[in-house]
Amino acid sequence: MGLIKKVPVYIEKFPGGGILTTSLDYVLSQSRASSLWYLLFGTACCAIELMATGASRYDFDRLGMIFRASPRQSDLIIAAGTITKKMSPRLRLLYDQMSQPRYVIAMGGCTVKGGPFYYDSYSVEKGIDHIVPVDVYIPGCPPRPESLLEGCLTLQKKIKKEKIADWS
Ligand code: SF4
Repeated sequence: MGLIKKVPVYIEKFPGGGILTTSLDYVLSQSRASSLWYLLFGTACCAIELMATGASRYDFDRLGMIFRASPRQSDLIIAAGTITKKMSPRLRLLYDQMSQPRYVIAMGGCTVKGGPFYYDSYSVEKGIDHIVPVDVYIPGCPPRPESLLEGCLTLQKKIKKEKIADWS
């Protein structure tokens, strides 16, 4: 019986075949991290970089990132752009409509902390973590596609460490 490097996968070989044993936690976390379907939530200029990341040059799909237009089919919200106070209840509603476990990436200075609207704006949220829990923050105005890819890889690493008992 052998352990493949540091992952909890054991292989017992027999003539003509073998048995592979592992934990359900491991299979589910690997699968989930490798197929993150994200809800489009672009509200301003950062969304242009999000769209560029999804196009052929950066090819988001190779990370298993597929965009969806419905929260019911999404594991992740990538909030990209300025979030106004009027928009906040919609963001929360969409988040609540996603099944668990669910994740949020705050892309760009506006979603992280209000960005250029931090001062002297009565209408912009000063960070979306007042509305929904955020898993990964990506600074920048706007962040480049490479930053978004790095943020998604960071989220994938986090998900791979999760256990079923963490889902709530
Ligand atoms: S962070 Fe900058 S680029 Fe992104 S939505 Fe705000 S103002 Fe636009």
